[in-house]
Amino acid sequence: SAKGEGRDCHRHFDVTMDATVRLRGAIEEDLRAALATGEGLALHYQPLVGGDGTMVGVEALMRWTHPEYGPLPPAQVIPIAEETGLIVPLGEWALREACAAAARWPELFVAINLSPVQFRTQGFAERALAIIRESGVRPEQLELEVTESVLIDDDALVSAGLAKLRAAGLRIALDDFGTGYSSLSYLRKFEVDKIKIDRSFVQHLGHTVDSAAIIHAVVTLGHAMGLTVTAEGVETGDQQRFLALAGCNQMQGYLFSRPVPADAVAALRTQLGARRAA
Ligand code: C2E
Ligand code: MG
Ligand code: MG
Ligand code: MG
Repeated sequence: SAKGEGRDCHRHFDVTMDATVRLRGAIEEDLRAALATGEGLALHYQPLVGGDGTMVGVEALMRWTHPEYGPLPPAQVIPIAEETGLIVPLGEWALREACAAAARWPELFVAINLSPVQFRTQGFAERALAIIRESGVRPEQLELEVTESVLIDDDALVSAGLAKLRAAGLRIALDDFGTGYSSLSYLRKFEVDKIKIDRSFVQHLGHTVDSAAIIHAVVTLGHAMGLTVTAEGVETGDQQRFLALAGCNQMQGYLFSRPVPADAVAALRTQLGARRAA
């Protein structure tokens, strides 16, 4: 009967909701446990190559292997970490880990992603600088990737924090550029060093003429402002050639390498260097 179906529907809905809530709760608890021991947590590194194809740096990307569910993508983990505040210790763990890696690769820069939630906590810049100082790594070797959402609230805490980090020698990169609200005013208000053109523009190349026009415009704008322009999500030789001709300074994507564990970075350097020589 209709009544019965209604009840079934309702029950089904409740069960799903309950499962989702339980899952999030479990993940939060397990993430807290992972943070306490470091068990299952790792950073993988994806190369960035310069105009000549040699590896110039790496982006650190978080990986968490859940004891029961296996590897969980950051797109699933980071939002839960942000909602629960766990992103603060998780982000500090990542910074410490990335600094230790950077010390092993003095000729590469290491880029670290920052969550807006981290950025808005009191004393963030000071804590980050303390971690970096402790590691002994030169701040010039490090890049912090922030998204436009960090810059949206024109708040004194954010601009003071950014200024402090840049004054110490760190570079700031605007990640996923072009996907946020109105990027242009942020570029004037906040000092950044680099723009990372979002993967979506790169992946539409050859399918829509608009992507090519946007990329040309962003490169011109970035260069006029003295910024380094990077393109992310480069997967094909055609995309690489277009971006090189457009004047992109750096590229990142599966064409060069997927993110790899720290132990594989040295071999990748040799490989990407060798490709250029060949
Ligand atoms: P993101 O910072 O924009 O990082 C680039 C993402 O694109 C990575 O996904 C990378 O694996 C993927 N990617 C790179 N090249 C290609 C390509 O050629 N094709 C395709 N389809 N994808 C490519 P990942 O590792 O899943 O990370 C997703 C997002 O999670 C990151 O996007 C970043 O916003 C966030 N994230 C990762 N690690 C951290 C972290 O330590 N802290 C914070 N706050 N966020 C992180
Ligand atoms: Mg990034
Ligand atoms: Mg990105
Ligand atoms: Mg992205």
